[in-house]
Amino acid sequence: MMLVYDARSAGYGCECGVPNYDYYPGERRRHKTAHDLWARGAALPRGFGRDRIGRDGIASVHESERGPEAVLASKLAHSARRAGGYDFASFYPGGSSLRELAPWSLAYLYVEDGRAVGYLRADAATHHGLFRPGTPRGQDRVVDLGFDLPPVPLAEVVFVCAEHRRRGVATRLLARFAADAGTALSALAWGVPFTTPGLALARSISGGELAIGDAREGAA
Ligand SMILES: [Zn+2]
Repeated sequence: MMLVYDARSAGYGCECGVPNYDYYPGERRRHKTAHDLWARGAALPRGFGRDRIGRDGIASVHESERGPEAVLASKLAHSARRAGGYDFASFYPGGSSLRELAPWSLAYLYVEDGRAVGYLRADAATHHGLFRPGTPRGQDRVVDLGFDLPPVPLAEVVFVCAEHRRRGVATRLLARFAADAGTALSALAWGVPFTTPGLALARSISGGELAIGDAREGAA
């Protein structure tokens, strides 16, 4: 799963990930809605538990939930999906039927002025690897370390709405997850593939070698 989306590199019509957005009036309307979400985030819906927002401006939502908090998290997950050009979002209220729900199957939402403007999909990495950046002419590589390691906290997807970038929102989300998971910020594992800004962020946080992983079930 991509970290910090960079849709222009994916060849979409708009950075928000909506393709062919000016063909029909209906598409233009849909694009405006999707673009607004991508740029400015989403207002907290009625019934959102404001007491769940910590002093750091962050609320966590478990994927087993189905309430307004989970619906809001899935909105941001879908904006991240569109911008990244993926088929599936990283968070579904009640969970995806494709995977088991672990204690760390969480979304973190960063709330500012009554709007959710940052999203982190957190999980536990059960499948481990190391990231090796490509040579100038080569592809990035992944060294597969397999399943024989204890689970580690996994930053699977980080997405910050466009108007709120470069203000430390992603780092604050990651710091909160690391604190909740009882681990050092630098010890988080990362979802791949990286975008260019995502790789820079991961490097600035992890220092040297990047642990990567995903939440796949053990070797079946
Ligand atoms: Zn757009």
